[in-house]
Amino acid sequence: MTFDLVICGSRVVTPDAVGPAAIHIRNGIITAVEPRSQVPEGCPVYDAGDSVVMPGLVDTHVHINEPGRAEWEGFHAATRAAAAGGVTTLVDMPLNSIPATTTPEALQVKLAAARGHCWVDVGFWGGVVPGNTPHLRRLYDGGVLGFKCFLVPSGVAEFAHVTEADLEAALTELAALGAVLLIHAEVPGPIDAAQQTRATSSPPDPRRYSTFLTSRPRAAENEAVALVVRHLQGMKHMAGPAGRSRVSAHIVHHSSADALPLLRQAREEGLPMSAETCPHYLCLAAEEIPDGATQFKCCPPIRERENCARLWAALREGLIEMVVSDHSPCPPEMKLPDEGDFLRAWGGISSVQLRLPVMWTAAQKRGYGFLPLVEWLCRAPAKLAGLDARKGSLRAGCDADVVVWNPEATFRVRPEALHDRHKLTPYEGRVLRGVVEMTFLRGQEIYARGKFAEAPAGTLLQRGPS
Ligand SMILES: [Zn+2]
Repeated sequence: MTFDLVICGSRVVTPDAVGPAAIHIRNGIITAVEPRSQVPEGCPVYDAGDSVVMPGLVDTHVHINEPGRAEWEGFHAATRAAAAGGVTTLVDMPLNSIPATTTPEALQVKLAAARGHCWVDVGFWGGVVPGNTPHLRRLYDGGVLGFKCFLVPSGVAEFAHVTEADLEAALTELAALGAVLLIHAEVPGPIDAAQQTRATSSPPDPRRYSTFLTSRPRAAENEAVALVVRHLQGMKHMAGPAGRSRVSAHIVHHSSADALPLLRQAREEGLPMSAETCPHYLCLAAEEIPDGATQFKCCPPIRERENCARLWAALREGLIEMVVSDHSPCPPEMKLPDEGDFLRAWGGISSVQLRLPVMWTAAQKRGYGFLPLVEWLCRAPAKLAGLDARKGSLRAGCDADVVVWNPEATFRVRPEALHDRHKLTPYEGRVLRGVVEMTFLRGQEIYARGKFAEAPAGTLLQRGPS
């Protein structure tokens, strides 16, 4: 048998081991993982030496914002930043683009905007908004990988948040489809109450991070998680189609550690519920955020060190299965850099390119090796999106999506080295460990030490009809 490429190295991360190996690639697919010495004669070889050879990262939480708000990011910039960060699969969120991906027609508009502009493979989440239950089946058949909804205002008018009644209707429909529902788990009650309190007391300084943190209390997340658990429990006991085929619910960007016992309880009851968190909740802490530094603003907020330590424990326990970026950029002026007003600035953190080094820097200090890193950054997100047969693992049958990186090398984050459209990042100036050297997408070299391939080679990932 002939191969298009063999990638070998002394630290190859396969599903259950790290060691010397050779990845044999043909037609973009891994045909076998063989001993390192087993390289067929005459076949092109990339020898990674002692650098780590790992599955390309999968990032299931990315706001690309095109069409409609391409000036916020766009497919070209987001997917180049991904390639430079060792990410080979992105899944785009249904909101901030105009139209939002809430109808089959809107999905077609998004696919047309993406086609030919993606440097890595890109899939799409559909949106659940009030009144769009009748569209969900056709959206799913049209290729979205699952759905996303908000339980609080999303920040943009085109993507309204759902009430409990909307949620109930959507969950019933999605259970029939067997589709996953991603949930922005904050409810308005505690946020509104915090606003009331603020209005009746002497006005707090909006440049202080603590002012913002108080405005998005943990209770908003805790109550939202409790609400989701309650609905899943209700459906478990429901007769009929919704009770038979199960919907799974996934909590996005989980921040409040106080809700972890609820997640544990759901797990123990066997409810189909999963959760992700983001690098900024694990690696940044409220106590360190300077006044006016609105590049640190996102919702739910980055919380205290004590919260952060408990999120790490939940990751160790497997209660939180994955770490994805929630890359959510906007034009820098929307962050109000001059006023530094945390309450009025747009919320969202850009980090699609930095997820690997940010997580590695923090994880290796805590004694983690490469296997959990692959689980959090590659395998679990691929599974969430139903892409695990092709993505997120170095094993025979998977796409030959590979990142080669040096885990000992360090670098200082410089905005000009980032490839997303706007260079504003809370990680600016930090020294991080882990330098991406090469990224391969389906066996093709798409990024090599600061240089990109000549043309974008990413494909659009669509599910087949159910
Ligand atoms: Zn998001």
